[in-house]
Amino acid sequence: MLIAGPCGIESKEQAFRIAKFVKEQGATHFRGGAFKGQNYPVVNGKPEYLGLGKDAIEIQKDIQKELDFPCVCDAQSFHQAFLICTSGIKYLMVGARNMDNLALLRDIRTLYNDEPEDRKIILKRGPSSTVHEWIGAAEHLGGPDRVILCARGVVHFDRHDYTRYRLDLVGMAEVRCYHPEYKLIVDPSHGSGNRKLINVLSRCALAIADGLMIETHYEPDTSPTDAPQTIDFNEFKKIAKLYREYNEKA
Ligand code: PEP
Ligand code: MN
Repeated sequence: MLIAGPCGIESKEQAFRIAKFVKEQGATHFRGGAFKGQNYPVVNGKPEYLGLGKDAIEIQKDIQKELDFPCVCDAQSFHQAFLICTSGIKYLMVGARNMDNLALLRDIRTLYNDEPEDRKIILKRGPSSTVHEWIGAAEHLGGPDRVILCARGVVHFDRHDYTRYRLDLVGMAEVRCYHPEYKLIVDPSHGSGNRKLINVLSRCALAIADGLMIETHYEPDTSPTDAPQTIDFNEFKKIAKLYREYNEKA
């Protein structure tokens, strides 16, 4: 799996331009948040960016239909999960901040009960959660037939200069060795918070995981959320090449 797209969908033009490019390069799925939010309700004097909501879901539906490109969208509430599920967007994602919201996970499991098995739920690891808790959350969502685990960074002590979060290599190895029944993908974007590290981290990730999820934008610095970790088209081209080479060898 090579999942790529912006942190958040900003407009139909933006989403289509990115989706077309990453698909041409070999991405298997388009990502793009519909429901965003920031750590503070007011950021630099402006209200937090909340995303396009339902309009973004409509845009993803169009991408699936017009470009024949399956999409991934994350939900932070049951209402949002319901909208994503009923819209037919291929994969639902449960973001890092909700991994341990077990009541939400149980409700989402019930929501997906009658959905075909190929409609997966991507479960991010919470930044402060243990691997044991992550697997427990995955079981609440329906286990390995329904869930794809997604490693993203965990909190760490060395945040000041280079990285906001840090990918936990040992945690990924633990999943591989103790829970081989789960598919595991890696998100180096939220795994580091720094676009300069994405290429090297992707190489490491491909050695251990079943896929990558990368935040990509034609003008990363204009992204309303997660700009510092978002890569441009040129960088994505290099990662798509790595992914192709990896698949040819496999
Ligand atoms: C995202 O993928 O844009 C996102 C919000 O990720 P996380 O839940 O890992 O912070
Ligand atoms: Mn993001």
